[in-house]
Amino acid sequence: MTLVDTHAHIYDAQFADDQTDMLQRAEAQQISQIWMPNCANETISGMMALADQYPDRCLPMMGLHPAYVTDTVEEELAVVQDQLNRRAFMAVGEIGLDFYWDMTFVDQQFMAFETQLRWAAEQKLPVSMHTRSGHDRNAFAEAADLIEKLALPELTGIFHCFVGTLDEAHRAISMGFKLGIGGVSTFKNGGIDKVLPHIGLEHLVLETDAPYLAPVPYRGKRNEPAYLRLIAQRIADIKEVGIDDVARHTTANALSLLPALYANLLPG
Ligand SMILES: [Zn+2]
Repeated sequence: MTLVDTHAHIYDAQFADDQTDMLQRAEAQQISQIWMPNCANETISGMMALADQYPDRCLPMMGLHPAYVTDTVEEELAVVQDQLNRRAFMAVGEIGLDFYWDMTFVDQQFMAFETQLRWAAEQKLPVSMHTRSGHDRNAFAEAADLIEKLALPELTGIFHCFVGTLDEAHRAISMGFKLGIGGVSTFKNGGIDKVLPHIGLEHLVLETDAPYLAPVPYRGKRNEPAYLRLIAQRIADIKEVGIDDVARHTTANALSLLPALYANLLPG
C-alpha cells in the first residue's frame, strides 16, 4: 500500500524542530509523496529547500493563496509567474477564494485566482484550489462559476479540503476535478460522511493539510502527513470498503494528475 498526501504545508515553521523525523514517520506509514502547496512569496524558499532535498517525495506547487492576497497582489503574482517560468512545479496552488476572514481584498482575490487559472492552463498544470466560504458567500459556488465561465481547455485539479454538499461534489466531478478529502472527514458533524457514500473512489484524493485540521484523535493538535492513514481508514469505514481499496484508488487518482515531467516518479 502506498498513499499520496496531496496537500501538506510541511515547510511550515511548526515543523522546524523535527522536519526529518516527521518525514520518517510519513515514510513508515507508506506515504510515498507529499505535495506542497505554496502560500506566498515568503514561503517559497522553505518549500524549495525540501523539494531540492527530497525531489522524489516532496513535490512543490507554485501559487498565491487567497488568504495572502492584499494590496501587494501585483508584486506577489509577478514572483509566482517568474517562478513558474523558471523551473518545474507539479501544480499551480494553492489558489482560490477565501471569504472566511476578511472581505477587504475580494476583488483582488478574484483577479489573482483567474490569472493563476490561466497560467495553469497555459502550462498544462493541475490546480490545487482552496474555497472557504464566509460572510454569507459560497466560495465553492463562486469558484465553480468562474471556472465554467473561463472554460479553459483541459484544466483539471483538486478542490482541496472539500466539505461541500452532494450537489457540489457532482458539480466538481462533472467539471473534471477531484475532491481532496482530509481530517474534517473524521470530525463529528463534519458532514462529508453523508456525501462520500454516494461518490465513487475514482473521484477522491487524500490530503492532510498539515499542520492544520488534524484528524481525530489528534484534532486540535499539529497535523502531519503520517496521519494520512487515519483519513484513508475513515473513508474506508464510511464507504464500507477496505483501506487497501481506498489507497489504491486515491493514489492512482493523484498520480493521474501529475504533469508528464513527474511521471517517472510513479511508485510501484
Ligand atoms: Zn493549504
